[in-house]
Amino acid sequence: MKFSELGLSDSLLKAIKRSGYEEATPIQEQTIPMVLKGQDVIGQAQTGTGKTAAFGLPIIEEIDTDNPNIQAIVISPTRELAIQTQEELYRLGKDKHARVQVVYGGADIRRQIRSLKQHPQILVGTPGRLRDHLNRHTVKLDHIKTLVLDEADEMLNMGFLDDIEAIVNQTPSERQTLLFSATMPPEIKKIGVKFMTNPTMVRIKAKELTTDLVDQYYVKARDYEKFDIMTRLIDVQDPDLTIVFGRTKRRVDELSRGLVARGYNAAGIHGDLSQDRRTKIMKKFKHGELDILVATDVAARGLDISGVTHVYNYDIPSDPDSYVHRIGRTGRAGHHGVSLTFVTPNEMDYLREIEKLTRVRMLPLKPPTAEEAFKGQVASAFNDIDELISQDSTERYQEAAEKLLATHDATDLVAALLNEMTKEPASDVPVKITPERPLPRRGHGHRNGRSGHGYRGPRDRRHNNYSHRRRNHDGHSRSRRHDGHGNSHSSRHSFNIRHRNED
Ligand code: ADP
Ligand code: MG
Repeated sequence: MKFSELGLSDSLLKAIKRSGYEEATPIQEQTIPMVLKGQDVIGQAQTGTGKTAAFGLPIIEEIDTDNPNIQAIVISPTRELAIQTQEELYRLGKDKHARVQVVYGGADIRRQIRSLKQHPQILVGTPGRLRDHLNRHTVKLDHIKTLVLDEADEMLNMGFLDDIEAIVNQTPSERQTLLFSATMPPEIKKIGVKFMTNPTMVRIKAKELTTDLVDQYYVKARDYEKFDIMTRLIDVQDPDLTIVFGRTKRRVDELSRGLVARGYNAAGIHGDLSQDRRTKIMKKFKHGELDILVATDVAARGLDISGVTHVYNYDIPSDPDSYVHRIGRTGRAGHHGVSLTFVTPNEMDYLREIEKLTRVRMLPLKPPTAEEAFKGQVASAFNDIDELISQDSTERYQEAAEKLLATHDATDLVAALLNEMTKEPASDVPVKITPERPLPRRGHGHRNGRSGHGYRGPRDRRHNNYSHRRRNHDGHSRSRRHDGHGNSHSSRHSFNIRHRNED
């Protein structure tokens, strides 16, 4: 459906157009008219379906820009999500001149207090920090018209219920309350009853749950084998932009360190890093200055990063919903993606659980050999060279090139440069990853309480996914990433950075 049919005014339609949105997503199409009417709405749709704009657009529409009070508040589980939401609301509300601010923990509170003096009309924040501000009376919620609980399932998982309640209690009881979530565990409905008035429930079936756009593979390996296999796979698959998921913070640290040691342009994020550091890493990743982001589930949850070509699950998630969220980071907006999940022999039941939920069978992948990995690196170097040569600014090197060719054999010369462009053999850089306890063995058919509610699509999906899945993917993804600004990131970039890392 067109945005123009949803009852939004021109300044918003302009901002929507500028954002490049052509059509409203299903959750937007269904919830925007309800929110505009002032109803309480519970909206469930999988990650990446545009829930932010689903509540953001109608909220901005209703903001009175002559009123200096905070009129809408969005509670968000993590700093990253809060920042991302603030940015999107700011972008969408720019033409209307709506003021949007964000507050989150781990950042200087005095600075936040100073910016709050500019009278935001929409405030986005994490639960703890919002409570802080309420206690200090630096945020007042008595003019709130709309309250949003965003990524509500995650807020519950993180134990924010008390904070949320404290915040909600300071808003007027006649407010509008909206709740958005990727999954719908039963506790969320309890929140609905507690904080909302006759909420309407909108559930978008996750039909593109694990979309045909993502080729899903698994590799069976023992824990201690995984790292070497992963770096070989990276060499063979030559991904553009990759997220590696690890089960624990220690894993994330060790994996990112190991990847850097082997010459990959990688960095890790998890909850123990300073806010500053996380923001910096995320920025680099979004701008294509970082090839591999290593993350825990929580740190990466809901992050909107476009152009991710590969998701590696270094550890298989214990919860099928997490799997869906993880691989939802790729295959977005029509782009093709690859996911690869490591599974130790006794974790196979978890793999089957995931397949039961997604109704897509993962294809086994044989670990590449060291020789195949080497060939992959050379192929990637060839690509880099093609790209370097097509750039026409090499004239001033002509003379130097001729000199070199006069003194060296051309083959020796190219081989030396290829050696420089590829990584040292992995066997020369041993990396030891501390073993994690494997997931407890689990019986067939057992599900834990919370999984399995959100994503079961209609039965006919079984046909769709099983019959249409790709079988012939060769594991070589060479597409270049376009960042939406007309730039095609070439691997030249990563080549340069790789060298910086090796210094
Ligand atoms: P969710 O909260 O459901 O996980 P987001 O609100 O973060 O999803 O949106 C995911 C991405 O989709 C964002 O980059 C957002 O700008 C983009 N997006 C939102 N609505 C549309 C639309 N109608 N068409 C295209 N892209 C959209
Ligand atoms: Mg969201």
